[in-house]
Amino acid sequence: MTVYYCDFAVGDDVHGAYHDQEYGFPVTDESRLFERLLLEINQAGLSWALILKKREGFRAAYDDFNVDRVADYGEEDRSRLMQDARIIRNRLKINAAIANAQVIRNLRGSHGGFAGWLRHHHPLSKAEWVKLFRKTFRFTGGEITGEFLMSIGYLPSPHREDCPAYKKIALLNPPWMEN
Ligand SMILES: [Zn+2]
Repeated sequence: MTVYYCDFAVGDDVHGAYHDQEYGFPVTDESRLFERLLLEINQAGLSWALILKKREGFRAAYDDFNVDRVADYGEEDRSRLMQDARIIRNRLKINAAIANAQVIRNLRGSHGGFAGWLRHHHPLSKAEWVKLFRKTFRFTGGEITGEFLMSIGYLPSPHREDCPAYKKIALLNPPWMEN
């Protein structure tokens, strides 16, 4: 039997608000898309609960996920981040954050931004998305890409059909429901 996020997240101190208001809801704002991608990348090998607990720390350490600022991070920022206990201090993940910010900045010129790039390629199967993310971004394997796309409404809702959040999301007409 499938265990849904809804089954343990609803009413939970750490997961509740994220489940009710964010998970699976469409996102188009550049900083928020970058944030979600970064949080999913940082979750690799760790629990989502830990990432949610550290979320404010991530926001503070990564300039509220301002793409321009992170794209311009140099050696000083890399060392600062490696010493910041509020985030996940992993060199590969920090390097991926900076490299991916640079990619996202470039998407403004080619596709009008990250949201425009997603929209341009929609719809794709999960396998095709993973292939595209692998060649575009850093540290985006199958699980991270799949989770990211579900969490922003590009792949089918991770909510139970009888979950109140599912109904709220359906009213917002997320990309995966268009087809
Ligand atoms: Zn749910």
